[in-house]
Amino acid sequence: MKTYEITCYEDGVTDLTEAEDIAAACAHAENWARDGDWGEEGTVVRCSVTEIMPLKLTYRLGEAVVGVHTCGGLDTLEERSKWDARMMDDDASHPAPDGWTGEWAEAMWDAFSFSSDVADVEDIQVEIEPDHATLMQAAGASEDCEHKWSTEGEGGLKENPGVWSTGGTGLIFESHCTRCGLRRKERSPGIQNNHDEHDTVEYRMPDEDELRDMIECGMVEEQTQD
Ligand SMILES: [Zn+2]
Repeated sequence: MKTYEITCYEDGVTDLTEAEDIAAACAHAENWARDGDWGEEGTVVRCSVTEIMPLKLTYRLGEAVVGVHTCGGLDTLEERSKWDARMMDDDASHPAPDGWTGEWAEAMWDAFSFSSDVADVEDIQVEIEPDHATLMQAAGASEDCEHKWSTEGEGGLKENPGVWSTGGTGLIFESHCTRCGLRRKERSPGIQNNHDEHDTVEYRMPDEDELRDMIECGMVEEQTQD
């Protein structure tokens, strides 16, 4: 098992995980990102996944190596933060390093080094789906309707009703529920999307006049009283 640090670029929150390899760590990072509270609109969350390599600390006095300390996994992070603190405080008489069992000279070392091999790093992008149920409810849609989506009568291309181009690779997909008339507009930036663009969705409940028109042109089924 290796240790990986996940950092979310969106909010700077980090998490640690142990995994077999970076692919497994990325899969974990994706689930972790989805668990976050990103609001109901949906978004794209970017994270970096970095393998934490074992750390080797070498202590020298003059030319002589007086100590070597290695640590791996989660200990590495703890050790690193202690060492950062020690480096800031370079006048103090330094305590012996953790794990050091030899006699620790009062004198300061001339140099110490952190060394580690190149770590596996990967950036991932996680598309967070909008919270459709909440958005539909906010638009005033009935919770009881089992929405049945159709693009019939939405305009756009004849062979592809309900689809509109927004230039470039961007597309808008319009559809409606044939049962209650709820209208849905999905925007996709397409394959050229940059980091800030992601699929979005809007729901809108038609007013009475619009609903009557939709029923008249066959987009919405006539409501039967039961
Ligand atoms: Zn419906």
